Amino acid sequence: MKHYRVAVLGNGPVGTLAALHAARQGHGPVLLLAADPPANADAEGGYRIEAVPVSLLALLLEYGIHPHLIGAGQTHAVRQIQWDSKTCISLPTPRTVHIHRPALEQALWQKLLQEPRIHLLLGEQSLQLHDAGVDSINGDNPNNWHADLLVDASGRAARTASTIDKSPQPWVARLFTLAGNTRPSGSFQSHIHSHFKLAALPEGYVYSLATPEVQNVVFVGRGKAVKGSAEELQQLLQGTQAEWVLQGLPGLAEFHSGIAHPVSLQWAASERSVLIGDAALARDILSSQGLSCGLSEALCVAELGTPQARTNFQQRQTQQRQLHATALLNQIRSCLYGMETAWQDYAQFIMQART
Ligand SMILES: Cc1cc2nc3c(=O)[nH]c(=O)nc-3n(C[C@H](O)[C@H](O)[C@H](O)COP(=O)(O)OP(=O)(O)OC[C@H]3O[C@@H](n4cnc5c(N)ncnc54)[C@H](O)[C@@H]3O)c2cc1C
Repeated sequence: MKHYRVAVLGNGPVGTLAALHAARQGHGPVLLLAADPPANADAEGGYRIEAVPVSLLALLLEYGIHPHLIGAGQTHAVRQIQWDSKTCISLPTPRTVHIHRPALEQALWQKLLQEPRIHLLLGEQSLQLHDAGVDSINGDNPNNWHADLLVDASGRAARTASTIDKSPQPWVARLFTLAGNTRPSGSFQSHIHSHFKLAALPEGYVYSLATPEVQNVVFVGRGKAVKGSAEELQQLLQGTQAEWVLQGLPGLAEFHSGIAHPVSLQWAASERSVLIGDAALARDILSSQGLSCGLSEALCVAELGTPQARTNFQQRQTQQRQLHATALLNQIRSCLYGMETAWQDYAQFIMQART
């Protein structure tokens, strides 16, 4: 394989894994342009949980990230019991696992710092370097650098994109968090944390998911589905018979109310870079696929040395976008509130992603 020099823009999980993978495949030097180091898990919004396919744990393990570092130790332990047993035992193992998102970013970051082929450029300087364009990066000094491949993993910002398609009436996610160590019992009951509950609302949806240490309740949508106090949102759930999502949990007022994140489907295109992760296609979180799909794309950067390989990759991304949009539309059609204005507006926008 011909080796090439790679510049990766963005140090979210996808950009960090892309840089790590490119370096470990012998490419390099690899330059990672990062706005800031990842925040600590106890920072604002730090207790965010994301659902991923359980097979992702095996991939991360290959990069030295043990499941217990990212809140998935219990799932891994169940598998280990089966592995260690001399007799045949069948224990229920889930298909998806809930991981602590900031812990994943921290763990990937620590691996990156140990990789000698990766140069790191942090802060404003990295933004200026990126804005100057990859052609102007020449020489061996990271401040004066040339890259054969510019990979944009800057998330929804998609900094090098020439076009970005966003919903005119974006949906957001409002996160409510309760950490186990703030509860009298210290941790959550196992029957609660193993559940993922999802209910439709007239202007969005609500879901709850947890690890043994952290419980998240997330409201997604627009208007009343995301605005208002904890009490008002609790009333909304009662009024729509969706309060079962909170069954067995304390009232929403006891949760920490976090920042709102944009979550509508979004996609972008670029002529001068390869976009990966949310920069290319920010999936609707209904699919619980954004992180795992982005991480699989990160593993492709080591194979993008030729223009043909890049064109093929971008064609696959277009197909993925169309498949995702079709799946989302089917979900909206079968939704209890699919005929409500908020859902219809969103469906209208999603249809553009299929063309
Ligand atoms: C509330 C919520 C819940 C979610 N739940 C799930 C879930 O359950 N399962 C799932 O699979 N997915 C979920 N997702 C989606 C998942 O979080 C994303 O798909 C994933 O974060 C994409 O990673 P990324 O690295 O591509 O982008 P990001 O995580 O957005 O990272 C982009 C990085 O680039 C940096 N950056 C931006 N501009 C620049 C610049 N100019 N220079 C340098 N750096 C820059 C940013 O600081 C950031 O660190 C959820 C998303 C949200 C918001």
